[in-house]
Amino acid sequence: MKKEDITGVMVQYYVLCKRELWFYIKQINMNYNNDDISIGKFLHETSYKREKKEIRLDNMVFDFIKRGEELVIFEIKKSSKLTIGAKYQLYFYLYNLKLIQTNIKGILVYPKERKKEEIFLTNEIIDEMEEIIKGILEVSNLNRPPIAKNQPYCKRCSFYELCMV
Ligand code: SF4
Repeated sequence: MKKEDITGVMVQYYVLCKRELWFYIKQINMNYNNDDISIGKFLHETSYKREKKEIRLDNMVFDFIKRGEELVIFEIKKSSKLTIGAKYQLYFYLYNLKLIQTNIKGILVYPKERKKEEIFLTNEIIDEMEEIIKGILEVSNLNRPPIAKNQPYCKRCSFYELCMV
């Protein structure tokens, strides 16, 4: 896998579970019926319909953007509970876009909770993103998945029974 093939979803998996990232990169899927995912899909499809202009740019997909003095990238999420993956996905987009525009920020939107959270790219985050990109490439080169580590996220994961954590 090349650096250009890395997506926001891979960044999310990397920060949440490197093992799940490995399954994702190797296109190993589980058949499941996950209500969380259905709810997320519903919210994604029905929220902010008027403003929403899903935009694809290379390996990035934005829910919508606003152009003005600054460029604002929006990501719609169903819950503010487990936001670390969503935050890093947005950092990844800001990191990629900094080459074409410096005045840029991200906003995580939680329509169900009527909440918003602003995300900015700092020098520390830029360094961290570079480490994450390196880490994702390393995971993609592994012949076996990283070992399972029990974490709160596991119970909502489709690989839960396979990992037996
Ligand atoms: S069940 Fe846990 S360890 Fe296994 S892939 Fe999912 S998050 Fe990772």
